[in-house]
Amino acid sequence: MIPIKVAGSTSRPASKPGATPAPQEGLSGAAGAALKYLQPGALSLTALPPLSLYIHFPWCVKKCPYCDFNSHEVRGSFPEAEYLAALRLDLEMALPLVWGRKIHTIFIGGGTPSLMSAAGLDQLMSDVRTLLPLDGDCEITMEANPGTFEAEKFKSYRASGINRLSVGIQSFNSRHLQSLGRIHDDNEARRAVDIAHANFDNFNLDLMYALPSQTLAEAQADLATALSFAPPHLSLYHLTLEPNTLFAKYPPALPDDDESADIADMVAETAAGAGYGRYEVSAYAQPGRRARHNLNYWEFGDYLGIGAGAHSKLSFPHRVLRQARYKQPKAYMEAVRAGNPVQEERELARDEMGFEFMLNTLRLTGGFAPNLFAERTGVPLNAIERHLNAAEAKGLLYRDHQLIRPTELGLAFLNDLQQMFLEG
Ligand code: SF4
Repeated sequence: MIPIKVAGSTSRPASKPGATPAPQEGLSGAAGAALKYLQPGALSLTALPPLSLYIHFPWCVKKCPYCDFNSHEVRGSFPEAEYLAALRLDLEMALPLVWGRKIHTIFIGGGTPSLMSAAGLDQLMSDVRTLLPLDGDCEITMEANPGTFEAEKFKSYRASGINRLSVGIQSFNSRHLQSLGRIHDDNEARRAVDIAHANFDNFNLDLMYALPSQTLAEAQADLATALSFAPPHLSLYHLTLEPNTLFAKYPPALPDDDESADIADMVAETAAGAGYGRYEVSAYAQPGRRARHNLNYWEFGDYLGIGAGAHSKLSFPHRVLRQARYKQPKAYMEAVRAGNPVQEERELARDEMGFEFMLNTLRLTGGFAPNLFAERTGVPLNAIERHLNAAEAKGLLYRDHQLIRPTELGLAFLNDLQQMFLEG
């Protein structure tokens, strides 16, 4: 892993899409960097993947004790106008890296983006539309948390172009919501889903299970309530204790391994019985309602991430680049003003591509078509032949000419399976 420092940029695109990549003396900032990335390199991608846009909103009313996302307590107010201006400038500076490419999906995540005012969100969407060409059927998702739901505001978000809502319910049980430190109670959770339903025909509910002192019957009741709203998509997460969270420091009493496994089995069976196909470790959808944005991540597609702490993965004909922006909102806004919000940037090495690709695609229950590997990594599939054989021999992977996918055992031991592709 070789970190590459990039020069700052305040310049707009200086070349036309598809222009011949030649190093240009005196061409500064991101435009110059973009041309550099078009030079011959170690990889050979036959096509660029679909490109998504991720926009991070870094504030929440209160920090949840289990949360390791880049989210910061609002403490009174947050600088909406300043942050929106930074997002626009960030996007302008990043344009040369995605010049000429259409946006396939957009995800506004956080944090709690639904803290944004209706006018603020409208401005953000209009900035994005001005600067980037969107696919005609671009999926545009926004995360929203109960406790921030006002019917009028959500009507307005819809009018601004948001066409999919992802609601962080987590539980419908007030005792569990309290133990998770959520700001909403069970009534607000139900009301939020009603508002989501009334304004968006496409929406997701996030639910967590194996919560502190949760019984199988309580987890069952939570899922039954979620299903009663017939959400097109469900994200069903097993609560885990992440490092650097309050729960990691003061662990709550969680169901033991056997109880958790029973709850997990119940969740998968109940969702399947209600007609939801499990297509990723935690993602379930009604037919035709898979999250296209998330699918693009899992299929090793490209994404430009703007906003505090946002990550990007961008492909060029001969290289794949990863970027991370400054995490603290204040540091991020200052860095944008100084001309470069990117804190870390590096090119993926040729021998990392196999692991990087498999880390994502093995999360998909249906796996991937074998030729996608070379298309997305720029490396032939035989580069990981030995690892594929080893995983197959252990019963963790299934493959034929049309498909490579984890087996049920592989999904149950996903970390082990993914790690096999790390070994040299
Ligand atoms: S609302 Fe979501 S992003 Fe914010 S602290 Fe809680 S879990 Fe984290």
